[in-house]
Order: sequence, then C-alpha cells, then structure tokens
Amino acid sequence: MKIKTLSRPLFVLLLLTAISVVAVFGQQTSTQPVPSVERLRTHINYLASDKLEGRRTGSEGANLAAEYIAKEFSRYGLQRSIGYDTPGMSILEADSPNRYLQKFPYVAGVDLGPRNQMSFALGNASNPKVGIDWMPLGLSTNAQLENVTLSFVNFGITSSELKYDDYAGKNAAGSVAVAFAGTPDGDNPHGQFARYEDVRWKAIAARNAGAKGLVIIAREENFKDDRLSQLRFDNSAGDAGLPVIAISRAAAARMLGQEDTKAVSSLENNVRRVSLNRLAPPPNWSPEKESWVVTLPNALSLSIDLVRREVEAANVVGIVNGFDPVLKNEFIVIGAHYDHLGRGGEGSLAPREGDIHHGADDNASGTAGLLELARIFASSQSPRPRRTIVFIAFSGEEEGLLGSSYYVNHPLRPLENTVAMINMDMIGRMKNNKLIVGGVGTAHGWRDLIAAGNPADSPIVVAELANPTRVPGKVTLETGPNGQVSSAMVHTQGFDLTLNEDGYGPSDHSSFYAKKVPVLFLWTGTHEDYHKPSDTADKINYEDEAHILSFVERIIRSIDAKDARPVYTVAKSESQGRTMGFRVYLGTIPNYADSGDGLLLDGVRDDSPAAKAGIKAGDRIVKLADRDVHNVYDYTYALGEMKAGQEYEVELMRGGERMKLKITPAARK
Ligand SMILES: [Zn+2]
Repeated sequence: MKIKTLSRPLFVLLLLTAISVVAVFGQQTSTQPVPSVERLRTHINYLASDKLEGRRTGSEGANLAAEYIAKEFSRYGLQRSIGYDTPGMSILEADSPNRYLQKFPYVAGVDLGPRNQMSFALGNASNPKVGIDWMPLGLSTNAQLENVTLSFVNFGITSSELKYDDYAGKNAAGSVAVAFAGTPDGDNPHGQFARYEDVRWKAIAARNAGAKGLVIIAREENFKDDRLSQLRFDNSAGDAGLPVIAISRAAAARMLGQEDTKAVSSLENNVRRVSLNRLAPPPNWSPEKESWVVTLPNALSLSIDLVRREVEAANVVGIVNGFDPVLKNEFIVIGAHYDHLGRGGEGSLAPREGDIHHGADDNASGTAGLLELARIFASSQSPRPRRTIVFIAFSGEEEGLLGSSYYVNHPLRPLENTVAMINMDMIGRMKNNKLIVGGVGTAHGWRDLIAAGNPADSPIVVAELANPTRVPGKVTLETGPNGQVSSAMVHTQGFDLTLNEDGYGPSDHSSFYAKKVPVLFLWTGTHEDYHKPSDTADKINYEDEAHILSFVERIIRSIDAKDARPVYTVAKSESQGRTMGFRVYLGTIPNYADSGDGLLLDGVRDDSPAAKAGIKAGDRIVKLADRDVHNVYDYTYALGEMKAGQEYEVELMRGGERMKLKITPAARK
C-alpha cells in the first residue's frame, strides 16, 4: 500500500476513472466516526421536505421534525433527558422517544370563543354578527361593556410630533371610540401619518384618551376582503389593554347614522380633507366652516371572548454522559434550532404567504450537524468525552428564541455547571471557505482555541466524496495493491474565519450568554434565499458542512481536554455600528427575531449609555435623535447621525406606554 499526494485536478480525474468509490476510510482512524456527507444529505432532505411544511413552531411539521430528531438520538444511544430519575417508570415509558422532548407552551393563534356579542339601538335591524359584520382583533382584551356611549374620533390618531389630535374636544373618556382605519393621507407609506396607521398605535391613543374600547371601520367595501376581518395573533404584540374590534362599512353606516356605505365613504373623504387642512391650513380656511352629521346610538353593549390557542412546542434534548467521575458534572451544550417559518407570514421575506419555506440552510443544516455530532460523540471511544455533552434541537427560534429562553429558565442540567454553549445556525452555504464564528469574546482563550482548531493544513478523512470538485485543498489518496482507491484524505487549507467578539446575536446562543454562559456561534452567512421558500436542500454545500463539523468537534474536544472550565468574560459589543464605521456606541442589544414596529431590545449592556439613560430589556425604541425607528435599519441610520457626548432624545414603548428618555452616546474605542 502506498500514499500518493495529488493536486485536485488530477484527483478529480482519478475519481472519475475509479469505479464506484462508495466508502473509503483513512488509515489511522478507521474506528473513529467522522461527519458523513451522505447522512447530512439524508437529514436535510427530510427536514426540508414538503412533508414537514416548513416546520413552523407548534405545527404538525415541527412535531414530525422533533420526532425524527428524537428517534435519531435514540438510535445513537443518547440518554433521555426528561424524567431520567422518575421512580416507578415502566420499561415502555423509559424507552419512549418522548423523553427527549422538553415541552413548552406556545400560543399558535387565537380563536373566537362562544360569547362574542355586539348590540346597539338599530331600529328594526338585527344585531351585527361576529365574523360577518364585525371581528375582534387579535390584540383585543377580553371584556364586557354594558350600555356605554360612543364617540366618533375621525381616524383615532394622536401625534405630539405632528401636533395633531383626533381626540381633541371629543371627550371620549369612558366611551367607546369609533375611528376609520388608515390615516388622513391614505396609504402613502412615506406620508407624515404613515407610522400611526398601525392599529396598535390607535389602541394606545384610545387608551390614553380614557376610552373603554375602540371600534375601527374597515377599509374594504367587502368586509371579508379586509385585513382586519382575519383574526390573527402576533406573538410579539401582546394585549392592547382594551377591547378593539373592526366593523364592516355596512355596520358602520348603521352605527354612524349614515344612509348606506356610500354615505360612509363621503363622510370618510370629508374627515380626510379636514384633517389634512387642520395640519396645513389653506388660506382663509377655518375648521368651524366644516361640519358633518354623525348620529351615534345612545348605548352600545359589547362582549369580547377570544381564546388563545395554546399548543405544545418542544425542544429535543439528548445527553452523552461524561466519562470522568468529577468532570461529568460539568456540561457542554451543543445547540441548533430545528423550527422554521412554515408557509410564510411573520418573519418571511417572500412576497406572499402560502408557499412552503423549506429552511434547508435555516436551520435544517444546523440540525443535521447537531445529529452528526451527537452520533460521533455517542459512539466515540477514543477519546471519550470527560464532560457531559447536552445536545439540544431548539424550537421557537424564529418567533424570538422561545425554545432556548425556555431552556435557560428551565434547564435540564444545571446552568451554573454549563461551561459552554456552541450554537450552529445556517452552516450549509459555505462559499470560498468563509466561516463566521461569533462569541469569541465570551471566554478567556476562545481565540487561541479556535486558531488551534483551524490549522492551515488540517487533514480530514473523507468517507464519501460526493462532489470532489467542491473540496478545497489537497487530497491524499490511498490505493490498494491493484491500484484502486481505498481511502481519501482531504488536506483543507483552513477556514477563512471572521471572528466576532459578541455573545449576543440573532440566534439561540444569546439566551445562554444572557445567563453568563460562554458561547460560540457558527454560521456561513446570509444569502439570497434567506427566509424564502427557495432555501432548499439542493443548494446546501454538504462537503463543506462536514468540514465545519470536524472543526466544531475539534473545538469541543479541546474545551473538554482542559481541566479548567472556560472563564466567562464580558464581550465587547460589535454591533453594525462598528462594521459601518460609526463613531458612537449606545450599548443596546436588539432582538433580531422581532418584526414588530420599532426596535425591540433583548438587553442593555452594563454601564453603557443605554443603561445610564434608563433603557431596559423589553423596551421598544420608536424614535432616536428625531428619527422614526420602525426597524433595525432606521435605528442604524439614526445611530450614524449621532455624535459622542451630545445629548439626544430617545422615545420608546414600555408595557404599552410611550416614554421619552435622554441618552448621551459614547465614543467607540
Ligand atoms: Zn431564520
């Protein structure tokens, strides 16, 4: 037997002429399992298949994915994590794959309960019917209002910025406010009212005015075509704090004493025109000249009964026990989320809802990697891991890290002895050998450990070479006596690493870092199929994913090889500010999973300008330095205009209240 070292083109030629090289093994590690391209392909093809329908948390597809992961854990011999010490458990239960499932409650939506009623004096007309003439909104509070008065409040908008108030002079306190949907300047997304269009703002304005409820008049002539007629629940939105409903234009005609929906439309146009005139009065115009007749019923009774549809979601947790009698009481968590976006909606970047979002890279790739590492560590004899390794496939990540935040608040192994958490999210699209590693500032020595795990020339034994042209670097072949290829070893050139200090970021490692666990986060970057139906299994770079897993395995082994656990450190923030060359620093930690209006914060760094300003985790920044903030982009833009040492105003929403604080950015070091 002899070893030849070949350059890649020659190797490819050789492989093409070799007949069916199915499985080849390296000489020195033939008993040691290695990441398998074919196994990765099998896992990702299943998880990202149409059958699993995009694995939206709480859906049947997500349950099928959890079942698949649990069965794989069971096949590899991972220890079950749930009730492992439950006395009197039968053999049957002891073997159940359910014992890998850490279930947590999840609100998948809202449904109408049996007690939704509305009545007001209508002459001979019958009461409006829920689902046909009116609909509670998902953010509505359940309540019963008896014989309350009504107050017509135009568009129901209050804006101190625009010095505009639809509630001025209305005395809406104690009554139910009735307002048109939308804004005076229509659907113009760049109009000055654009940000007040959201029903949530209108609900806040109504509550601030002391109203007991809010009725929104639908925009569409046909109620069923109106967005507001569809009962929806937004996990990040919560409860508005008062009953809020939408009514059809036909029902609105009766409620406002108008002849028909045509009369409602002309009333709407009048209100629109007058509102705009009030904002920028034309010459010789006075509001006293304008009037319309609205006849409201004396009393309205309203009963709202929404039922939250709570379903079970589950993290899948399997354990490989440590070999060392002492160190086995320390834990290394390896994590990857398995949920995705289902058929679109919240979080999707697809133009329309309904198509399956396959989520092959996000994050069937990380889940498949988790399974491969579980298989390798469960069967690894030399060296056996000294510490206990906890493998977790998280759910609810796309909805805002729900599964990982449930785990860190209900850990199945003590969090204080969890010495490291390694997260893989989107590791299937490597290009040009580029890999991003986050969290390198969260423990002493992480950088050295990563450098040692990424030598310029690291030999990897390849069991199958499905697509050798994609393998970077040199290849060493072993040939048998007849000249046939019997094994192959790839000498990778080492990854082109981008290292980020920060332990916070847009995935599950954030939950652990917030609990002071050192973290590392691996991903191959974003791409044009991100959060779209087109993130499919055929686009995954399986060979490079196998290399990444070997790298992760080396990192885990070198953490485990040291007697001392990694020492947690406070990482420097590397927000977009730094990479974009911004001069200032606030110390906010955005929640990237959130898609609500404004910028939701996961946390605030200790002693940062944000902390000094009184900003807290859970706050939603809506305005910064006189700029409206609807999303992280607006925020970044505002940040770019700020100067260190100068005081600015920041406006935020906290528990439904809008508040203003003063913030003084610091200079970036
Ligand atoms: Zn995602």
